[in-house]
Amino acid sequence: MMAGSLPAAVGFLAAVRPHGGSLPRPDFASAGRRSELSEETAGHSLRAVLLHPEAPDGAHARDRGTTVILAGELYNRDELAGLLPAGSSPDSDAALVLALFGLYDVHAFRLLNGRFSAFVTAGERVVLATDHAGSVPLYVSAAAGQVLAATEAKALRTAAGGQPLPARPVRRLAGVQQVPAGTVLDVRVSTADCVAHRTWAPPLSRRIVSEHEAVETVRQVLDRAVRVRMGTDTPLVVLSGGIDSSSVAALSARRSAGRIDTVSMGTEEADEFPQARVVATHLRSAHREVTVSTADLLRRMPHTVWAAESLDPDIVEYLLPLTALYLRLEGGGRRILTGYGADIPLGGMHREDRLPHLDTAVCHDMATFDGLNEMTPVLSQISGHWSTHPYWDRDVLDVLVALEAGLKRRYGQDKWVLRAAMGDLLPHEVVIRPKLGVHEGSGTTAAFTRLLVDAGVPHQGVDRAKRMVVHDLFDHVVVAGRHPDEVKTEEVVEQVAERLASGAPAAL
Ligand code: ATP
Ligand code: MG
Repeated sequence: MMAGSLPAAVGFLAAVRPHGGSLPRPDFASAGRRSELSEETAGHSLRAVLLHPEAPDGAHARDRGTTVILAGELYNRDELAGLLPAGSSPDSDAALVLALFGLYDVHAFRLLNGRFSAFVTAGERVVLATDHAGSVPLYVSAAAGQVLAATEAKALRTAAGGQPLPARPVRRLAGVQQVPAGTVLDVRVSTADCVAHRTWAPPLSRRIVSEHEAVETVRQVLDRAVRVRMGTDTPLVVLSGGIDSSSVAALSARRSAGRIDTVSMGTEEADEFPQARVVATHLRSAHREVTVSTADLLRRMPHTVWAAESLDPDIVEYLLPLTALYLRLEGGGRRILTGYGADIPLGGMHREDRLPHLDTAVCHDMATFDGLNEMTPVLSQISGHWSTHPYWDRDVLDVLVALEAGLKRRYGQDKWVLRAAMGDLLPHEVVIRPKLGVHEGSGTTAAFTRLLVDAGVPHQGVDRAKRMVVHDLFDHVVVAGRHPDEVKTEEVVEQVAERLASGAPAAL
């Protein structure tokens, strides 16, 4: 059950109905092969399309009337397998979840540390589950007699209207809702009655530990999170030279039998190439630099929205440079490790010494990440790659969020505990390098702002205009189902600028 290079499945569209029927057209941004699954049980039929990079074996498992479909992967397989009766050795993550479901029912999902969405049919029930962070988004449309679910909202855009569930409505897709992070929805098919179980919540309390213990613990949990994400092939780390990705690269390199691969992106206007090169040289990685023109970068904005199905302009700015990078990575599907998301539990965007503000930022960010789809693997899946983020490992988050603020900001440094934990693995200049966000280092925020200002948007209207552009893009590539190659960022920007100039109300 060792992870191969990629998960068995990376997405699905699945429906349970009493009397069969066909699926909506399986519209996905994710690339990959597709297999159909069809099962009849007493009174129900299950139809599914599975998206899988390699052979579909292992993407689903079935036993005595219960079927599990799993997109993604688990990171605590060994611990989980230890819960099963001696002699049982599930041969896939789906089979492991199936066995645990037999023992614990919905509470099995409280045990999992992973990056996944799951769809389980059991008799009269459909059970839908996200991982602790909702990092593989999951959408549902349910009405009496039928439950449809998919890992991309656009795959449900033609589903007939669903009824309200304890889930988040999706803009302009009537009846389609997003399953919250760290949640199991237990739906009765005949009535669409639904009970929600929360399986994870960010820690609210803070732990007081010594510097030494904090540093040791962070090193240990992060090392484990990197190791379990490495798979069997040469790891590829998207590397900026900042402390977050440099730490992931350093831990990967230490665990890897051979040289790891690293790649950095920049534009003709801004890059962090020299900083990344210092790390690559130190780790002796096979390193590549990819330059994307600013024009090409902005052209990929519809692809970012198509993949992430996010409505938040800040998130789109963070994800856009990575989308452009992933689209330039040729070759077969790679397993990609990132340093994404470290700043959220560590308050890394907080650049001053006052501790109350740091914890206010951490609490706010941990309370509002859900639904932004910042961690979605679809971003890399549009070019056939599987990305995974060690800092958003469940156990890493539990440790990082819970550290008292004075361990995060200390001796005038942000992310102090992480820097201290990496002191022996990276050059000192890397350990103390100030944070530079991916949207800043690539010039993405500046380029998007300039595009709007050049189209006539006044400076004070830029934030609002960015939001309108992202919402319009969402309407094109998710709600209307257009391919992002057909949607021109510049045209959408011009339309927004005209709407703003004419005083037309923003359709938000
Ligand atoms: P720091 O937060 O200290 O700057 P960082 O650069 O590693 O560290 P972010 O700036 O938050 O982290 O960027 C998020 C992640 O996106 C990085 O950890 C890295 O994996 C990836 N990334 C950011 N910039 C680049 C880049 N120019 N090229 C390749 N990957 C990048
Ligand atoms: Mg950075």
